[in-house]
Amino acid sequence: MRIGILGGGQLARMLALAGYPLGFTFRCLDPAEDPCAADLIPHIRGNWDDPEALRTFVDGVDMVTFETENIPLQALDCLESWGVPFHPGREALQVTQDRLLEKTYLRDCGFQTAPFASVSSLDEARHAAASIHYPVILKTRRFGYDGKGQKVARNSTELEAGFNALQGQDLLLEGYVSFEAEGSLIAVRDKKGHIQFYPLIHNEHRKGILYRSEPWIAAGTLERSAREAMKTLMEKMGYVGTMTLEFFSSHGRLIANELAPRVHNSGHWTIDAAVTCQFENHLRAITGLPLGSVASQAKYCMLNVIGQMPPRSEVLKIAAARLHDYHKAPAPGRKLGHITLVSDDQQEIEQGWQDMLAFYQP
Ligand code: AMP
Repeated sequence: MRIGILGGGQLARMLALAGYPLGFTFRCLDPAEDPCAADLIPHIRGNWDDPEALRTFVDGVDMVTFETENIPLQALDCLESWGVPFHPGREALQVTQDRLLEKTYLRDCGFQTAPFASVSSLDEARHAAASIHYPVILKTRRFGYDGKGQKVARNSTELEAGFNALQGQDLLLEGYVSFEAEGSLIAVRDKKGHIQFYPLIHNEHRKGILYRSEPWIAAGTLERSAREAMKTLMEKMGYVGTMTLEFFSSHGRLIANELAPRVHNSGHWTIDAAVTCQFENHLRAITGLPLGSVASQAKYCMLNVIGQMPPRSEVLKIAAARLHDYHKAPAPGRKLGHITLVSDDQQEIEQGWQDMLAFYQP
């Protein structure tokens, strides 16, 4: 079976790495000249909403999936009109492309969210901020990621500056959540409606970019309520594939922040430390195969490699370290790879972390 992936970045690359052992082949469509998945799978260069490029891309492909939520809905219109199956579905893409729809959907499914309001003028933003209470965050409704397209405002002067910096785009104003921790829940749902949940993950961000992921200690009630609402949401959407919820824990309660209709950076540890990784389970789900176990096989901690790759020989001196180099050109703030520390012994992971910080600090 040949699977077409819209997007050719590292997520497409890791999907291919997980799918080859199962006998799948791949092709990707990406506007970049040399996206990193092109090392491993045939790449068609073109825009996702270019019908001609899409036509070439789907020729001989059995089904399509995507590695980014920024795929224009027109691409799905084309696939639908040509009878090319794709997963996840249209609703998942539509909802997650727009923070206003997304937050509303999350609420409707039983998640608590930060207070929010759609704003299209400075006056509206001021009114919304007065009822939500400062501090607030202005966010672009579309195309925001890794903290981009966001401005925190502690008062009306900062709100005006933030509004001016972002104006011209549809905006959402959100209450600032004072959180103890950030986390994510990764779930996968197959075509028959079976759902599996990976263990809850604790995430640390730096400058808006994921820096470190590790198991969430004492997940208990938080995990139970997250799973329950996620199940409702996936069923309501008729979702097939891997999906991620990012959330805050505030006073012990889960505040849902955003959804990714795809495999996620905070689940990269599953490659080395889960029985079946998020990428393989995504492929199993969308192709109608049974899901694999999501249990962790060891203790783990994942560090993102951002901006510059550390020396390979130094990383590999650490016995617990598994290095994943996406083969991308270095650039400030760019995710170039990740390192997962895996061991049965938490002590070894902590020591590995210290050893790594001695020569690498992203
Ligand atoms: P996002 O693009 O919504 O995933 O936000 C990126 C990061 O900004 C999050 O991981 C948080 O660290 C921070 N952030 C976003 N929204 C809020 C909020 N309402 N309150 C506090 N911090 C936030």
